[in-house]
Amino acid sequence: MQIYCSVTFERKNMDRKEAIKLSAMVALLGLTDISGLFAAINNEKETRSFHRFRMGKLELTVVTDGHILMKPVQPNFAPGIAPSKVEQILEDNFASKQEVDLGINILVIRSADRVILVDSGCGSNFGRNSGWLLANLANADIKVAEVTDVVISHAHPDHIGGLTDNSGQIVFPNASVYLSRIEHDFWMSPSPDFSKSKLRDNTLKNLVVEIARKNITALKPRLQLLDDGAEMLGCIKMQMAPGHTPGHCVVQLYSGSESLYHIADLIHSQVLSLEHPEWGFEGDTDFELAITSRRKVLEKLALSKAMVFSYHLPWPGIGHVRRKNAGFEWVRLPSVLPD
Ligand SMILES: [Zn+2]
Repeated sequence: MQIYCSVTFERKNMDRKEAIKLSAMVALLGLTDISGLFAAINNEKETRSFHRFRMGKLELTVVTDGHILMKPVQPNFAPGIAPSKVEQILEDNFASKQEVDLGINILVIRSADRVILVDSGCGSNFGRNSGWLLANLANADIKVAEVTDVVISHAHPDHIGGLTDNSGQIVFPNASVYLSRIEHDFWMSPSPDFSKSKLRDNTLKNLVVEIARKNITALKPRLQLLDDGAEMLGCIKMQMAPGHTPGHCVVQLYSGSESLYHIADLIHSQVLSLEHPEWGFEGDTDFELAITSRRKVLEKLALSKAMVFSYHLPWPGIGHVRRKNAGFEWVRLPSVLPD
């Protein structure tokens, strides 16, 4: 374990374009109070760590890229639902009624001959509360040059943004990158269709498109496009779960008879998205389709009792999905050791 002290974001060094971009990204994520992004971290020498476990022949490591504070809860979550209902559910689950704090859990898979990342975090797009991936890979003794593959669940900036650095250079010099063909075609089309989303701000949508295109273009020589059900690298199967974005995938990881489902952005709250999958998420590209996919996959996970890895649920994002009333609940896998 090493002391974490890599903080690169400084407000005074930000030019106007960067400031506008940051403000817009913050607004996209529903942050009305941006002071948190600029505030100094209380203890610059906070220790970060990693969570490591085995599944069959695979060594799995979870590292954090930081976190994203979504504030207020509505309309980021449950747009159009009576606030009293939403607040009651949050209260019943001892959750904050003011905000939902999203983790950014990055799964690293080491097999006999590969080191595979699932998603790449925010990179430098969101300021100092995220973009911690590289420092924390180093903490976990994983070298950037030994990463052979990066599987991208979908091309939103908090998943694809870590593929390139501030100057547009590729971060993982030896890695192939995998992305669903539908996802690629959507973001690279002349005018991506957001008509079924509840998100209305065109400036923000344009910015998300810009970051997706920047990364896809930079990685083009290394990019492999996948269709639904594609199997690769001896341990991964991609499964389309569209709605959050058109080509959004969940990633089934397997070794022998063991499986783990990386559910990417199927859910963003361990309370609201599970108890009421139909209340929806404002940032979904197709609001209704996302609800259908969410319910369908959650149903499958509850039935199979599969182990689940979630990108945005609280650290380290590992648990199970269980039925609860007409919806579901998250059962976090306990860990006997501190992280
Ligand atoms: Zn996300």
